[in-house]
Amino acid sequence: MATICYLCDRQSGAIPGLIETRNPLATCAICGVLVCNGHGKRDPNVRRFQCVLCVPALLVASAMQHSELARQMRTTIPVAEVESWAVVHSVDELLERWPEFSDIVSGSGQQLLELPTSHRALWRSLPDETQHLIDAAIVIARRLEFRREDLPPVLVSFMNW
Ligand SMILES: [Zn+2]
Ligand SMILES: [Zn+2]
Repeated sequence: MATICYLCDRQSGAIPGLIETRNPLATCAICGVLVCNGHGKRDPNVRRFQCVLCVPALLVASAMQHSELARQMRTTIPVAEVESWAVVHSVDELLERWPEFSDIVSGSGQQLLELPTSHRALWRSLPDETQHLIDAAIVIARRLEFRREDLPPVLVSFMNW
């Protein structure tokens, strides 16, 4: 059997504006999956290829760097050296690297209504930028229909499946 793109195999949506091809183009420098032209791209500034599946995971890792969230969730998601170049500190920084997500991320902010009841008090206690990072992660993961087993459990806990 021919090798196919990991995200095509999982029938995940493509990066907005791109089309999935099934043919592996490159290996994600962070998680090592093989993905096609519609599921990853090379960042010329850092000279690395990144798959789109790593985007929500890195948004969560970024959000967890705020100690209050990590403390309340009783967990930490350390940023590995291999992925430190891909971590963003704000949604604006995400959109500089991934302008393809501008439309769906800027249309978010409705997530509060959909949050599980158990997480609403925690959510309200978070700084705005932390909320925005998690919100963007949820919107991207939903829109591209990533599977929950491919996402960090902390992110899944914020999503009302
Ligand atoms: Zn693909
Ligand atoms: Zn990846």
